[in-house]
Amino acid sequence: MTLEQLDTIASSSTFQNPAVQRWNEANQRTDYDVAIVGGGLVGATLACALKESGLQVVLLEAKPQSEAVARGQAYHINLLSSHIFEGIGIWETMCPGVNPIDQIHLSDAGDAATVQFVPKDLGTDVLGYVAEHRVLLEALRQRLCECSNVTYLCPAALVKTSALKTGVALDVLQEGDVKHLQARLLVAADGARSPLRHQAGIRTRGWQYWQTCVVAFIKSEKPHNNIAYERFQPAGPFAILPLPNNLCRIVWTAPKAEVEAIMALDDTAFLSALTQRYGEQMGTLELMGDRAVFPTQLMQSNRYVLPRLALIGDAAHCCHPVGGQGVNLGIRDAAALAQILQAAHQQGDDIGSLRVLKRYDRWRRLENVIVLGFTDTLNRVFSNSLLPLVILRRLGLWTLRTLPPARWMALKLMTGLSGRAPRLAQGIKK
Ligand SMILES: Cc1cc2nc3c(=O)[nH]c(=O)nc-3n(C[C@H](O)[C@H](O)[C@H](O)COP(=O)(O)OP(=O)(O)OC[C@H]3O[C@@H](n4cnc5c(N)ncnc54)[C@H](O)[C@@H]3O)c2cc1C
Repeated sequence: MTLEQLDTIASSSTFQNPAVQRWNEANQRTDYDVAIVGGGLVGATLACALKESGLQVVLLEAKPQSEAVARGQAYHINLLSSHIFEGIGIWETMCPGVNPIDQIHLSDAGDAATVQFVPKDLGTDVLGYVAEHRVLLEALRQRLCECSNVTYLCPAALVKTSALKTGVALDVLQEGDVKHLQARLLVAADGARSPLRHQAGIRTRGWQYWQTCVVAFIKSEKPHNNIAYERFQPAGPFAILPLPNNLCRIVWTAPKAEVEAIMALDDTAFLSALTQRYGEQMGTLELMGDRAVFPTQLMQSNRYVLPRLALIGDAAHCCHPVGGQGVNLGIRDAAALAQILQAAHQQGDDIGSLRVLKRYDRWRRLENVIVLGFTDTLNRVFSNSLLPLVILRRLGLWTLRTLPPARWMALKLMTGLSGRAPRLAQGIKK
């Protein structure tokens, strides 16, 4: 049904279809409690998590739906994120496109011994999951359609904001027209370069790494057996993540000049270089689609909140891809912020006030800095040929191989099961 048809039907006074009523209301409403800017995985998770909050939410995404869904990325989804998706009620929808991780093999180049993590180390059924971006985003968008309190505008870009006495005025560009909206709270889920963070004058700390990242999908001759590999080379970590249909995602981190050389290889030479890294255990490898390069950086915002503004996901922090933690931190931010906003709303507090938002800042900024520090240390200690560091990491790997409590502690951090779990992840929605 086209929008024009919906409009015609909606103008009939006897028509009672709820979908039409929602479409009409969504296009007439200009006043919201929460405006989320950025409909990536993190912004969409927050919108879905606010389903039963009693708050009116608008979610803005600048890119057309087809373009945003088609991003050729795949992620390690840790256990906590899977629990949050379960709490939101979309994990079942995601499951057919998600691959479990049954084992993680961790090794250091030049050392034959491997640390093998298995679910028994943690007392869980699996160690995590891997999924493509489109699988996750499509499930979230499907859920958004069922959230009667969420208006999803896409493509729609926030172009201007100005402060009001008890909220924020927003100019939103949609189909060539500027819509004027207002909200009590603005949430920046607009990615690592966050224009909203810049406009608000929130400073960040961090650095670009000397490495960049080559990512690619490959298919192997032999089954991947749901094993994820993290192999540390002096140039940088090299990860293989198992996907459905025996596909794998390669995340190959190396110094920038080396990555340029890798990208200059033709497909046959690239696959041969990959086989050298990979080992022969997977048989012949086939490249599926194009290779892509991503910069790597560590970034932490000095604050996550200001009056009427909260930062979540990459807008607030970014980390090195080792361990695949980035999007998981953002999903946890979204669940934590939803919990705080819902509780504040139920108590009659102003959800955009600094007093309320500081609860989110206190909760998430420290937890995120621990993971940022962990990934940074891991990368620096392993991407190095200095003898004291080689000795230190061999000692670390020996400890992980021989002491089950050490494996348990490492897995708690990587799976997101350490720290304060949002209520959504505990199956308690209210
Ligand atoms: C090579 C690589 C591998 C990675 N692997 C993993 C992994 O295995 N596991 C993991 O957890 N993480 C991984 N990450 C990190 C992960 O990709 C990011 O943390 C995650 O995508 C951030 O999501 P986000 O929603 O915060 O931001 P984004 O995905 O950047 O979304 C921001 C959205 O905001 C929209 N937007 C921006 N400005 C406006 C505006 N003015 N109006 C409206 N919309 C706007 C944009 O169009 C965009 O869709 C990896 C990253 C890299 C580079």
